[in-house]
Amino acid sequence: MQSILISCGHLWKDSGAISEGIREVDINWVQTIACLSYLNTIPFSDSYEFSFLVPEGFEQDLKYGAYLDNYKLYEHSRIPRMLTITDRVNAANRSNSILIELHNNIFSDPEVGGSEAIIFSKKNKYREDSEANKLSVSILNKLSSVERSRGVKELYSRDQRNYVVPRERRPAILYKTLNTAVIVETGFISNLQYRKRINNFAYNTFIGTLIGQGIVNYIKNYNVQIA
Ligand SMILES: [Zn+2]
Repeated sequence: MQSILISCGHLWKDSGAISEGIREVDINWVQTIACLSYLNTIPFSDSYEFSFLVPEGFEQDLKYGAYLDNYKLYEHSRIPRMLTITDRVNAANRSNSILIELHNNIFSDPEVGGSEAIIFSKKNKYREDSEANKLSVSILNKLSSVERSRGVKELYSRDQRNYVVPRERRPAILYKTLNTAVIVETGFISNLQYRKRINNFAYNTFIGTLIGQGIVNYIKNYNVQIA
């Protein structure tokens, strides 16, 4: 049984990026719930299990398939505590899960937009072969129907045999998670067009569904154990 954990970037008092009153965590939250709701509608074989990474105790309130209906009940403000990076990494490593964490970006130039994924593939000989890269490409391909793809970014360059981003900007969740780990930056909330679109609940739900479809495509293309 392969477990796949979907993690909402930031939570509780950590709002993540803020742009014109839009909080990143609110966008991440809807996308995360929509993604998992979609995944749980897929008739998978017994080989996969999808989970939603939330603070301990909270997950018992959540029932598969009812996330969106109960969305109002589960606003992140009701989450009792922070889900730390260590919590997330430990949860993934305990179950040897593939971890996909959803974020939204911000940049000073409001014209900048698009989706990107961040990975760390020090262990992989060829980047194209890394599971993180394949998973990222599958997700970005689906998102590209609505958001321009900015591609997959690596924390580590095998050519240079060194990190390509400074230490403080290396997400621990990527290099401390033992199995495949991907950060998806769905869009830029600093981009006016994107901000307008995702401010609509139905549209933001659609974005989360596309991410779920990208995950399913990855499983179909590379693992072929789907029912
Ligand atoms: Zn974030």
